[in-house]
Amino acid sequence: MNKNYKIIAGPCSAESKEQIMNTAKDLKDKGIMFFRAGVWKPRTKPGGFEGIGEPALKWLKDVKKSYNMSCAIEVANASQAKLALDNEIDILWIGARTTTDPFAVQEISDVLSEYDNKENLIVYVKNPVCLDYDLWVGAIERIKNSGVKSVGAIHRGFKTYNTYNKSKFRNDPVWEIPLRLKSEYPDLELLCDPSHITGDRKYINEICNLAINAYGFDGLIIESHCNPDDAWTDAGQQVKSCDILNYLPNKKSIDDSNDIDLTNYRMSIDYIDQQLISLFKQRFDVCKKIGQYKKDNNLQTYQEGRWHKLLNHILDYSHNILNWEAENDYFIKDVWNTIHNHSIEIQNKLQ
Ligand code: PEP
Ligand code: MN
Repeated sequence: MNKNYKIIAGPCSAESKEQIMNTAKDLKDKGIMFFRAGVWKPRTKPGGFEGIGEPALKWLKDVKKSYNMSCAIEVANASQAKLALDNEIDILWIGARTTTDPFAVQEISDVLSEYDNKENLIVYVKNPVCLDYDLWVGAIERIKNSGVKSVGAIHRGFKTYNTYNKSKFRNDPVWEIPLRLKSEYPDLELLCDPSHITGDRKYINEICNLAINAYGFDGLIIESHCNPDDAWTDAGQQVKSCDILNYLPNKKSIDDSNDIDLTNYRMSIDYIDQQLISLFKQRFDVCKKIGQYKKDNNLQTYQEGRWHKLLNHILDYSHNILNWEAENDYFIKDVWNTIHNHSIEIQNKLQ
């Protein structure tokens, strides 16, 4: 398979030798070279399947031997990391729950620093379950400090607690977070895990397309199973291993530097952005005048009634003059909330 991005695929959990070998065979037949499997499963709540553990490492050795694939597993503590390395696992990843624990990450890093074959090892760090950018970066730094050169990151989305979140996904992608990581660490290999973002195989292709074609990720890690409906964990999000190609991005990333249409569109965007920023500046200059007026006349800066009137006026203009569909209202509310908060801040500084 000739793709310009990496693909790691395999089951959420190793369940039996037969399941591992059948899944690996399906994937290898489709040209996948990197195999994943969960050997120890960190479950949020007790009572679920917690993984086969050490005996499954032997099955992965068989995958390497029979299909010449590199094998990846999650490690959550020092002893798991040691067992993985002793059993010639090629790729380790730190799971979303472990990334939240600097002690566990440091202990894993200490095991890695003692490992002789560091040049050939790859370690990925998944983002923490909840949105804390610094914990993600901190875990990456700790693993890098072990001396392992190939350290990457996996974006698996974030658990959010927004009561009104009607998201169709299990975890919110919040794309700006992995993009920030990419801009601050341009050399870090960045993979997307559409399985744990979506929680549902019917959205896997949508997220794969966004990750590779829209955001320029370096690869994907996709949960795949020879018989996903019977999987012991994450059954709804695993794709059938023999169908894996159907879920991959539809088109290759293009080299856009010579695309005339795109260049013209981008020039229009740049021009509009200049107008926007000039208008923002004008608006905030007027805010300063209002702030001074309120100070001189002993008026409070935040006026609840005015804010609601202003927002309704904008929404009304958007619907009735611009004919912009109401589905854009959430965007307008978001932007004007930010503008209004900044205006209040400017005025408060004058008080
Ligand atoms: C996994 O990839 O099997 C897993 C448990 O994922 P996460 O750590 O992202 O929940
Ligand atoms: Mn899983």
